[in-house]
Amino acid sequence: MRYLLDDLDKIKDKLRGRDLLLFLDYDGTLSPIAATPDKSVFSEGMRGSLKKLTGQPRCRIAVISGRGLENIKKKVGLKDIIYSGNHGLEIEGPQLRYKAAVSPLYKKAIGEIKDSLTAGLSKIKGAIIEDKGLSLSLHYRLVRKNDIPALKNILRRTVTDHPAKKRVMVRPGKMVFDIRPASGLDKGKVALWLLARESFRRRGRKVIPIYIGDDSTDEDAFAALKGKGITVCVGGERKSSAQYYLKDTGQVRFFLRRLDGILKEREV
Ligand SMILES: [Mg+2]
Repeated sequence: MRYLLDDLDKIKDKLRGRDLLLFLDYDGTLSPIAATPDKSVFSEGMRGSLKKLTGQPRCRIAVISGRGLENIKKKVGLKDIIYSGNHGLEIEGPQLRYKAAVSPLYKKAIGEIKDSLTAGLSKIKGAIIEDKGLSLSLHYRLVRKNDIPALKNILRRTVTDHPAKKRVMVRPGKMVFDIRPASGLDKGKVALWLLARESFRRRGRKVIPIYIGDDSTDEDAFAALKGKGITVCVGGERKSSAQYYLKDTGQVRFFLRRLDGILKEREV
């Protein structure tokens, strides 16, 4: 794994003569992870850097988040961006709108699991169940360390005891469990689909993807894009399928500004 900022010249070479599809995760990538999802702040500096890139004709941005679609759209608040919520189950952007079809059995199951979890976790202080429509997130960043094993037990029992457990999948993230459709899209599949679509729309121009993310669900995208583009994990060097790393969201912003400069140079 290499440090991205050491290889900016190489990145510049790779971008030469190509259009860019820039995939960005939100929490932990564009915005530091907050105590609760509501508290996360999208800085004006980051918004400004991203906005500049939306004005680049050879660049398309896709924000791919585990948050619900409306939530992520509101947080970022910029036009001319493709937004994907619920880890790819919902997508919206210029001339694009998609919502994964889920079975009524799944919908029923997710509602019942939410009710059981709400009851089961009522005594565990700090547990937050977020209803994102097509999926649930159970956040435990504020839960006391001693209560975490009990929380995990309650979650496991709630899902495995449910008659429709095969339709539901639990994916761990940073101090969060996502409860979502077992057969659903993940960030890797959605990145490949958007890349194919963008390549088609650019009519023969080569499109190179850059994907920046920080969490385990981003690993699906790092693996899917292997050999196709540039993958970057945020949070320092660690075991990951990504080729590169950046240390924190501040460095992401720095890289976005550099990217804007590289694309501008190319336009001249
Ligand atoms: Mg993240």
